[in-house]
Amino acid sequence: MKSVFSLIIIVFISLLTFGQHEPKSTPTIGKAKNIILLIGDGMGTSQIYAGMTAKEEPLNIEQFKVAGFSKTYSASNYITDSGAGGTAIATGYKTYNKAIGVDKDTISRKSILEYADEKGKATGLVATSQVTHATPASFIAHQKQRYMYEEIAEDFFKTDIDVFIGGGLDHFTKRKDSVDLTIKLREEKYQVVYHTDEFSRIKEGKLAGLLYDNAPPRYSEGRGEMLVKSTSKAIELLSQNENGFFLMVEGSQIDWGAHDNNTEYVVEEMIDFDNAVGIALEFAKQHGNTLVIVTADHETGGMGLNEGSLLTHEVKAGFTSGNHTSVMVPVFAYGPGSENFGGIQENTDLFFKMMNAFGFILDN
Ligand code: MG
Ligand code: ZN
Repeated sequence: MKSVFSLIIIVFISLLTFGQHEPKSTPTIGKAKNIILLIGDGMGTSQIYAGMTAKEEPLNIEQFKVAGFSKTYSASNYITDSGAGGTAIATGYKTYNKAIGVDKDTISRKSILEYADEKGKATGLVATSQVTHATPASFIAHQKQRYMYEEIAEDFFKTDIDVFIGGGLDHFTKRKDSVDLTIKLREEKYQVVYHTDEFSRIKEGKLAGLLYDNAPPRYSEGRGEMLVKSTSKAIELLSQNENGFFLMVEGSQIDWGAHDNNTEYVVEEMIDFDNAVGIALEFAKQHGNTLVIVTADHETGGMGLNEGSLLTHEVKAGFTSGNHTSVMVPVFAYGPGSENFGGIQENTDLFFKMMNAFGFILDN
């Protein structure tokens, strides 16, 4: 009797273990033609709820039916930076803080954007920071250190990325090597534009939107609808590719507002980012083959909401830090493969789940 009982236990345990080693395949494998990944830099649950409190209408993020959490620690630190955080999501490798597209041994690791490009998909990056800044850079560059901006700018030529829009023009034109990379961009058939006003004449083809010399200003100090306009234009251009596309959109400055412990700054950037989420969701609803994922690379500020009103839309936050914190950040998903994004996961899992949704096989 005792041995039968042990046998049952062993069978039960091996079934459990077997389950854990099952490949992460589901019936939805390969069903996403397009993926739009939106990263709110520094966006924890308090940043989101501050936006929900301040805005009179519901946020677009509230529409998601699948929600989970991502563990953001890096290979080197309990608290990640945006280099290691971006690299984990982009490549599936935890790495040391400040790394860009390389693993903890500084070996280059292929990003989901690079896989998508190789498989004939159109690819794009949109950010409210410099395009060479840590988060977008993690998807296209491979450098030991995030502040190697000029080297990161050169890495844009190593992938046939179709659309990239943000700040950071100086890293292409005011370089130590005196090379003007916008000339090279034009040789590579990019339409180089310096202002969102020029978007209306771009109907197809490759687009390099270098809209600011360095960092774009905050939403209320001149940037305005740049993120929404850029996200719309990127989707319009990328969706013309019959093999589908991968697009990463970053609300970069939620993080900057939280570093400043400035609640108003966080709120306006949060709502701006959420409007870009709305653009992505609208496209996905019209095209049933699009997976939309919204997440963050880490939380910033240790933001807590100490006072607020859903009637007056006022919100008062407190901050425990002027830097990033370790807490889990939310993950929201919509579309084919979205069901895999619930629960608590590693930030690196997001890469593998996107690969799965595209039906791509790892090759490095
Ligand atoms: Mg960032
Ligand atoms: Zn930060």
